[in-house]
Amino acid sequence: MEDEFMLYDLKVEVEEGDKPFVCSHQVGDYFLVEGENLIFPANRSFSMYALAAILPLLPAKQRPLDDNDWMKSDEYIACPDPNCGARFHITRTGKRIFYHNETTVVPLEKRER
Ligand SMILES: [Zn+2]
Repeated sequence: MEDEFMLYDLKVEVEEGDKPFVCSHQVGDYFLVEGENLIFPANRSFSMYALAAILPLLPAKQRPLDDNDWMKSDEYIACPDPNCGARFHITRTGKRIFYHNETTVVPLEKRER
């Protein structure tokens, strides 16, 4: 149990912005993030351009963050098409425990910080 760590589960959901959508987004479309996995509802689609804009932020949003960190407070991502009004809302939906030895083959070294 010494090697456990926690990541937040996430939900990323399409919401309306201040302009109409240009892309094929539908309000309410979403995907879930559990550990390394993205989970999409059956028979729903998600723009690969929007996904490309969202992906770099997900590992940080999964982790505990400083209360003063903008990465903790900011939870809306704009569509990368500047003419599209879609917003992608990232919320934390739960906590999940992982174990270092089950997620990597690199040995855990205890270090002074
Ligand atoms: Zn868009």
